[in-house]
Amino acid sequence: MEQNMSNCLLRVHGLTKQFSPAGEKVVNDVSFSVAQNEIFAILGPSGCGKTTTLRIMAGFERVDSGSVELKNRVIECQHTSISADKRGIGFVFQEYALFPHLDVRQNVGFGLNKLESKERNKRIDEMLELTGLGAFSHRKPHELSGGQQQRVALARALAPMPQIIFLDEPFSNLDAVMRQTTRNEIRTILKKAGISAVLVTHDQEEALSFADRIAVMNSGRIEQIGTPEEVYYTPRTEFVALFLGRTNVLKARAQGMEAYTDLGELMINRPASGEIKLSIRPEHLTLERATERNCNGLCGTILTREFKGHDITYRVKLRNGECLVHTDNRMPFTSGDSVVVKPLEPAVVLEV
Ligand code: ATP
Repeated sequence: MEQNMSNCLLRVHGLTKQFSPAGEKVVNDVSFSVAQNEIFAILGPSGCGKTTTLRIMAGFERVDSGSVELKNRVIECQHTSISADKRGIGFVFQEYALFPHLDVRQNVGFGLNKLESKERNKRIDEMLELTGLGAFSHRKPHELSGGQQQRVALARALAPMPQIIFLDEPFSNLDAVMRQTTRNEIRTILKKAGISAVLVTHDQEEALSFADRIAVMNSGRIEQIGTPEEVYYTPRTEFVALFLGRTNVLKARAQGMEAYTDLGELMINRPASGEIKLSIRPEHLTLERATERNCNGLCGTILTREFKGHDITYRVKLRNGECLVHTDNRMPFTSGDSVVVKPLEPAVVLEV
């Protein structure tokens, strides 16, 4: 699961952490690498160990075994622990943690007291320009929106020129619209500055839209690492398939590149044989009105219709079980209609 990359900045190897000797490993043999200029997300449900992983990398928590290297230097292992302030890591947290009595300029310059005043002012100006905060430089935090405050927090974290930025659920205090705008803005700023980042989040949409690669974590372990497209379209496990969005998990009997399921025969994404489990996303299925010709004994009935404006999700009752089908808004079915479910893409074979 760990990649060999030539431009590796952060390398985490076999990280393991237990808070009590009899307790579970809350971080269990976690390995991944982050490249220069890469935005990497650790995505998983509450309690899966993602914050503990970040805290170990940041120097706020000791590791039991495994190691963290930043630019080929070990910063954390069983025998060594470089203190957090000497690791060259910047932080942005969920709560912006800005100083309320300082204005934007003073907040951004807070960690720069070792610089001479000319150099300090130049750096602050650069950060304000980079984050588009120049016009707000004399405002206090309470005079800014949540998204603007988060940009100040980012400017402050970037000002000392860290090697990498850690973002711990940085958008969760924002409302839905502001969250989307702020994460687009922050992604653009990070890419413009060419800085690597690790984002910790439980929000799959956030990870998919913000990160270059995602590690999906479950019960202390990483289940899959890949680009957003890879983890979404070809999940390795049932957990990843279900955590990344809606899907249909089907029992199947496979032979070669085909499998027999409750939806009939489906093409599959890799050769398999015997009893397997498949995932097929609702948008990779479509519906046709059932007729004598197309039904072939595999008709279903529309149970519910969820209209969402640009698309519709149907729950369809099959002979054994149900499935979800996501169509565009021109598919005019209603509850009780007889339909045939047709695959548009091969189903994905899951590891058992
Ligand atoms: P959330 O999104 O809710 O913060 P998480 O995935 O970040 O969850 P962690 O905060 O890493 O999860 O916690 C993983 C597990 O470790 C949880 O069961 C938590 O209760 C436990 N844990 C975390 N910190 C400590 C600690 N200092 N002492 C004991 N147990 C802890």
